Amino acid sequence: MKCDYCDIVEGIGKSQILHQDSEIVIAIRDHVITPGQITVFPKKHYTIMELVPKKLLAKCAAIANKVSVAVFDGLGSQGTNILVQNGLGAGQKVPHFGIDIVPRIENDGVNLQWEPTQLEEVTMDLVFKELKKEASEFVKKGLAGKEEKEIIVDEGDTEIEVEEGKDNYLLKSLKRIP
Ligand SMILES: [Zn+2]
Repeated sequence: MKCDYCDIVEGIGKSQILHQDSEIVIAIRDHVITPGQITVFPKKHYTIMELVPKKLLAKCAAIANKVSVAVFDGLGSQGTNILVQNGLGAGQKVPHFGIDIVPRIENDGVNLQWEPTQLEEVTMDLVFKELKKEASEFVKKGLAGKEEKEIIVDEGDTEIEVEEGKDNYLLKSLKRIP
């Protein structure tokens, strides 16, 4: 069984491809939050964002930005929500990375809001300490393009390194079968 986005690439299903090249697809799907919602995704099946090569991810983001502008111009939107549901824990429905551009107008009845939680100082400190440790690492890796190999998850012909002991949801999402 293939995933919904792979089906779109193969021309199966009720979606319409607005544009495609050898790497990416820009499509209108039949399951949307608002009419005019557009999804940009790589043709190759990457389950989550972490798997997408940096250059391809940058291309998807740049196209999503252009699409957002087009939606303002073409549909008279007053705003767009640009969404990535990354991983099972984030409610990702299709196990294939994609960026949704959701056209919005005031009072359109769509509720993508959530109530911010006021953190206790102790929780704030705890989170800060944890992330501070990580931050120096991910900034270093992100800026230098260095990646440390720890656990290697084999995703067909893609490999991703995951820090040992890290994660369960990351691993689950990585290993998710369409
Ligand atoms: Zn897929």
